[in-house]
Amino acid sequence: MSDSSEKTEHFDFIREAVAEDLRSGRFSQVHTRFPPEPNGWLHIGHAKALFVDFGIAQDFGGVCNLRFDDTNPEKEDMEYVEAIQRDIKWLGFDWGDRLFFASDYYELLYSLAQKLIRKGLAYVDDLDDEQIKEYRGTNVPDKNNITYTPPGKNSPYRDRSVEENLDLFARMRAGEFPDGAKTLRAKIDMAHPNLLMRDPVMYRIRRVPHYRTGNTWCIYPMYDFAHPLSDAIEGITHSLCSLEYEIHRPLYDWFNQNCDMFPSRQIEFARLNISHTVLSKRWLLQLVLEKKVSGWDDPRMPTIAGMRRRGYPAAGILDFLGRIGIAKTDSMVDIQLLEHCIREELNKRAMRLMAVLNPVKLVIENWPKGQVEWLEAVNNPEDPSAGTRKIPFSGELYIDREDFREVPPPKYYRLFPGNQVRLRYGYIVTCTGFEKDPAHGDISVITCTYDPATRGGDAPDNRKVKGTIHWVSAEHALPFEARLYDYLFEPERPMEVPEGKTFLDNLAPNSLIIERRAVAEPATREISVGQTVQFERVGYFCKDPDSSAAMAVFNRTVSLKDSWTKIEKKQQEIVH
Ligand code: ATP
Ligand code: MG
Repeated sequence: MSDSSEKTEHFDFIREAVAEDLRSGRFSQVHTRFPPEPNGWLHIGHAKALFVDFGIAQDFGGVCNLRFDDTNPEKEDMEYVEAIQRDIKWLGFDWGDRLFFASDYYELLYSLAQKLIRKGLAYVDDLDDEQIKEYRGTNVPDKNNITYTPPGKNSPYRDRSVEENLDLFARMRAGEFPDGAKTLRAKIDMAHPNLLMRDPVMYRIRRVPHYRTGNTWCIYPMYDFAHPLSDAIEGITHSLCSLEYEIHRPLYDWFNQNCDMFPSRQIEFARLNISHTVLSKRWLLQLVLEKKVSGWDDPRMPTIAGMRRRGYPAAGILDFLGRIGIAKTDSMVDIQLLEHCIREELNKRAMRLMAVLNPVKLVIENWPKGQVEWLEAVNNPEDPSAGTRKIPFSGELYIDREDFREVPPPKYYRLFPGNQVRLRYGYIVTCTGFEKDPAHGDISVITCTYDPATRGGDAPDNRKVKGTIHWVSAEHALPFEARLYDYLFEPERPMEVPEGKTFLDNLAPNSLIIERRAVAEPATREISVGQTVQFERVGYFCKDPDSSAAMAVFNRTVSLKDSWTKIEKKQQEIVH
């Protein structure tokens, strides 16, 4: 995992707590878990949790379980279970044979609820949701505008006898009462300063089939009851979770203690937030359902599957997670740091190819008619073992429209009438003129002459040629579709919206631009779906599964320009 001390520094508060637990004998080994709810695909925030859960276990020679926290039948699905497993594996985390489902504990959880009833610590309530809320009370500002929490009110059903509660609970399970008519609640303290401790609901009646247990159950345990007990059932020593669960911790401990279960310890860390991104399954689901994106694996999504499809290598994502570290307070990380990590990784391993996104023809007037020369090109200057390939060069090439100007702006070193440029791997050419399409006024052909003495781009007479441009031989060009992605959301914080607006109003209008005229050199044919290459001077691109034999599709993974080092000097994190 992380090897330098600088990288692991932020992990330290969790590591220290765990080490102390081992020293003091509170636990004799380390056993963590990653507990996704199968109600959506994993996003990069979950990758951070995976990194922490598996990382801490590994650091202490322990193990990490994968447990699906599937206690909410309305939203859960096998499709999500499969997607989540695929993504965890792809990131390189291995749960071995420790795959669990909270739904496998339903029977055990039911008996633990009975145990609490017998201890006089749980009761069946007839109040409905609204009344429960009302009786619980809320935080209110006092006369100095400081929030305080006046005591709530006991439910009139709070003092039912153990026998009556056991009977009613059994009848809830047997389906005798309609949905919502009764709940099972923990009997804690209706005046507790933490509202969550005011007799939380443990079970509710819901006639919804569960994707694993079908119609076996019509009562389902609540998260606050099921989660700590599932941890305890598995002997989890350290239950690592994001900061929003901090307020649930007293409840976590209460259930495990009062059910006489394993004393799992919950430790919280800051959630990952990334600029220009939303990281909550709820919002991501909305984007999918409202067809703002093509699916959970749309390359603009911050999901693991989206990033994979976009061409992000797992190693780059892990490098990012190692660099941001684990903090105790929420913050927002600049998305450009993630892109920087992706670029660094791809620079090491991506094959280089030439492709032109917006082609215009370049005709070499003095090129011998019909001649094709095969030029040698290095596949990856960062990796000599990647070898070389041959690229065809001929008298008619495509270059990018961007690389030609009729009237050059200052410091323009690319092609314009009278100027010389080097064609990458090829020859030095001098622009002799251009033609325009009479219909649109667009430039249709650029003409030039080449200097045969400059093969490979060398200028034997030391002449100064500042510009080098890429090209593709027209006769050999493979057409492809380039999908150019930008941030899905325009503002840094998409969830910050003025009244009457939603985060959907913050969607960037041009987060996907499709370029259908793109062409690439013949070696592009060998690229497999899922492989990321660098189109020289253009960017990193990943071959998409939408590719067909007739037409390849490439997703722009990330551009080549990296401004991260500059930003890093200014500020490493934008603090919340
Ligand atoms: P979401 O808000 O996306 O719905 P969740 O917490 O409801 O996330 P779970 O499936 O319950 O999703 O999460 C599994 C684990 O991932 C939990 O331990 C949770 O704390 C952690 N997690 C979720 N989002 C983040 C995040 N942005 N940063 C760090 N950890 C996260
Ligand atoms: Mg959750």
